[in-house]
Amino acid sequence: MTPLPLADQYARFRDAVFAGVAEVLPGFAEPMTEMELQSLWFAGAFGSEFTTTDGKAVKIADFGVWNSGAGPDFNHCAVVIDGQTLRGDIELDPDARDWERHAHGANENFNRVVLHLFLHAPEERFFTRTSAHHAVPQVLLHAGMLPEGTKPKQNLAPARLGRCSTPLREMDAARVQSIIESAAQHRLELKSKRLHRSVAAQGREQAIYQALAQTLGYRKNQQPFAILAQRMPLKKITQMDAAKREAWLFGISGFLEGIRSDDTEPATRSYLRQLWSEWWRLRSGVERWLDDRQALRWKLNAIRPGNHPQRRLGALAAMLESWSAIVTPLADATRWSQAAWRESLLALTHDFWATHYTLLADSAEKPVALIGETRVQEMLANVAYPLLVPERTRLWAEYLELPALLDNQKVRLAVQRLFGDDPKSKDFSKKLHHHQGLLQIYEDFCLEDDSACADCPFPERLKEWT
Ligand code: SF4
Repeated sequence: MTPLPLADQYARFRDAVFAGVAEVLPGFAEPMTEMELQSLWFAGAFGSEFTTTDGKAVKIADFGVWNSGAGPDFNHCAVVIDGQTLRGDIELDPDARDWERHAHGANENFNRVVLHLFLHAPEERFFTRTSAHHAVPQVLLHAGMLPEGTKPKQNLAPARLGRCSTPLREMDAARVQSIIESAAQHRLELKSKRLHRSVAAQGREQAIYQALAQTLGYRKNQQPFAILAQRMPLKKITQMDAAKREAWLFGISGFLEGIRSDDTEPATRSYLRQLWSEWWRLRSGVERWLDDRQALRWKLNAIRPGNHPQRRLGALAAMLESWSAIVTPLADATRWSQAAWRESLLALTHDFWATHYTLLADSAEKPVALIGETRVQEMLANVAYPLLVPERTRLWAEYLELPALLDNQKVRLAVQRLFGDDPKSKDFSKKLHHHQGLLQIYEDFCLEDDSACADCPFPERLKEWT
């Protein structure tokens, strides 16, 4: 049966409403919320060794990270089943059938689930299957596994304190700073290599255009923005007048075809008319791309209005309109001025997109910056400095001074695992390079570890750091 997309959307909406409602779960005398049940699991109260419903031995080597967003309940877990280590996610439901009731079996975000836990199973055998048709091992939990008097812990941290937190706590601040700064430099070097490879292949301006477009797609739509920038290369798009350019961008993106003019407000209707007056003549030349439009695969779920790709496409159009001011400071590292570049980006505006978040949204009460401070920060971190630092190493000192503006869940998890409640952690979360360094350590060590820190080499390496 083909899953109905709205059913999944409603199930998520409903679960968000009821997630905090306490009910008597199978085997428990007291009412308990799903969140409290997850808290017990994450605290290890049910134990770490189990048997699957088909009789295999299961050991939880790493309870992973408690997910606060959409998707499975626990991410980056390590589960050993019959001696084989599986890395992935864990889903915990009150009832085995919740997997299908919540349409997880049709949701590719659940394809990495390696263990399905539940407290109740129907008499008839129920199989847990992903949308990729993989059978997921199941474990039936029961209240009897809990030590007597166990209560869910309040304010449990979303990630466990790592083994490295002890040596880090004992190190002086200058050494910790030096480790994080080195990791940040390594991360910048990796970005530089990727960007300079793109410069060598496509030329400097096209590589900059594509990298900036990708940053506008951050986080979920980087790929479609990269494809758009490749399909409409800079040389071609900057030769067009503004109206035609914008019609191309919105037409090829597929955002024009699905919108009914009657569903929009008057200002949007007039903007759509303007785009269509160009697009209807252009579209016959790119029909193959239109057939292939699904390849862009825009991700629109759980996107904040300010990050919607339609608005970001408006920002790309404004950027192309002022292309010379945007690209000139990046053309040559000796002419770089962070202040001037930042100003050019912050000053970008657009008649329609300055007051609209999407083509279907009502007009905003007052103008909203097309590209705000955090987006500029992302462009500095992912485009400007990776491009320029290898060409003028003095710019590294400038990079070190950039403040951290974006709240990043991975950074929060890294801080939690490496520092816990050590007050020192505040000093290592303020600057952009701190975030970049912590992300690199998290990706290189935490995400590679499947032993709940036991075999991670990072704590021992710390002792060798000079
Ligand atoms: S996996 Fe390694 S780096 Fe991550 S918290 Fe554990 S000991 Fe620290």
